[in-house]
Amino acid sequence: EVRVRFAPSPTGPLHIGGVRTALYNYLLARKLGGKMLLRIEDTDQNRFVPGAEQYIMDSLRWCGIEIDEGIEQGGPHAPYRQSERKPMYRQYADQLIKDGYAYYAFDTPEELDAMRARLTAAKVPNPQYNSITRAQMRNSLTLPEEEVKQLLDAGAPYVIRLKVPRKEEVRFNDLIRGWVVVHSSSIDDKVLMKSDGMPTYHLANIVDDHLMEITHVIRGEEWLPSAPLHVLLYRYLGWESTMPQFAHLPLLLKPDGTGKLSKRDGDKLGFPVFPLEFHGKDAETGEPTVSSGYRESGYLPEAFINFLAFLGWNPGTTQEIFSMEELIEAFSIERVSKSPARFDQNKVRWYNEQYLRAKPDAELAQYLLTELNEQGIGVDLSTERLEQIAGLVKERATFPADLAREAQLFFHRPASYDEQIISKKWNAQVATALTAFAEALPTAQDTTPDGIKALLTQVVEGQGMKLGQVLQALRVAVTGAGAGPDLMHIMSILGPQETAERLQAAVA
Ligand code: GLU
Repeated sequence: EVRVRFAPSPTGPLHIGGVRTALYNYLLARKLGGKMLLRIEDTDQNRFVPGAEQYIMDSLRWCGIEIDEGIEQGGPHAPYRQSERKPMYRQYADQLIKDGYAYYAFDTPEELDAMRARLTAAKVPNPQYNSITRAQMRNSLTLPEEEVKQLLDAGAPYVIRLKVPRKEEVRFNDLIRGWVVVHSSSIDDKVLMKSDGMPTYHLANIVDDHLMEITHVIRGEEWLPSAPLHVLLYRYLGWESTMPQFAHLPLLLKPDGTGKLSKRDGDKLGFPVFPLEFHGKDAETGEPTVSSGYRESGYLPEAFINFLAFLGWNPGTTQEIFSMEELIEAFSIERVSKSPARFDQNKVRWYNEQYLRAKPDAELAQYLLTELNEQGIGVDLSTERLEQIAGLVKERATFPADLAREAQLFFHRPASYDEQIISKKWNAQVATALTAFAEALPTAQDTTPDGIKALLTQVVEGQGMKLGQVLQALRVAVTGAGAGPDLMHIMSILGPQETAERLQAAVA
């Protein structure tokens, strides 16, 4: 059985890169009939942000990403929050020590700083606690056994570090990148257990993936450098034969491609990078902050998800619109790209337009009504009329709120008229034709858009003019603006009486 997990740390709002990771995991799980787990990786108490966990779950729910096992759902491997699993990790650190794959290290923060300073001064590019520096530090591999025992007995603070081999090639097959080979000299002796008895991300992550029988680890590229270390851990814990398969997703870049899309980019560049609005605190000043979210900005979750799916994956066809069901059907890890994906604001708006306009007019009419009521506009129109309006203005809408903006003309007579059009298109002859049309309107038999158009044509030609000569002036007279939805539809919805009155007001 395929088992995948989304394993966020509750250190702040989930950003779209995280949502994409969750989405790809979910798509794979559903495609292969497996299970999707949500595990909260909260072993780093210093970076814990209240509310972040709830935010993550609300976001996934809004996106339609369903969790099979997790902190809310429970499951055979509960608890799914690492802080509640704390007692489970120690034995694996002890086992590694016993088998010679890990060791106690007693170095104080000052000693570690001194080591880094020495190496930096010597121009060592990437100062590390590794097989070379380890020899000069205070740990159970360098101190006499007696002293180690004394230190432990005396309760001296220590961490447990992985003993990374000096010269070895660590390799694994990444489902997206192919073979990844890393020399062990570039891996440092990572801390597995901190002095407060909490496991680090690395230990907890591997232990949990093993115990939770995870088959595929799908996560962001930023975790690629940790993967060789994880491979070593699987090996040293004797779990190599059931090691999950890795797939590291491509980076998400800023719209201009100049670097990684960061959590701060959103409000800076004028688009959300979070699924839902997030109320947090400024890290430095402690002031309350609000980061904008896709939901509150008027995006539909289906559009957002469709857009996200394409940030790093494509179906290999020209089809762009995919429901979640269709994504599940079409998704495969093989079609996830190695190269970074550039965030495209216009594309996400485009998706929203497609999804909004594809909604039934009845649903759009509901959005419209809600929005109008919020604006305090009393609507005494029939459901049928509202649906007609929604159906007409949707072609000019990206977000639900745009419907109400575009629909204003039905509820307010023009307060002013587009000057430019008036100066170019308005003349005595046009005014006469419009007056004639206004007079003819109340007698109209057929008030459909086609019927109105036929009547208009008849009147205008009767005045010896062509339709094209009056259309723009007519639009301005009826709506005030030089552009908008189809004019015949507008007049049909307004009805002959209201249209005629507007015309008379304009001519006068
Ligand atoms: N807790 C890590 C994160 O915040 C999980 C990385 C992983 O999937 O291994 O992304």
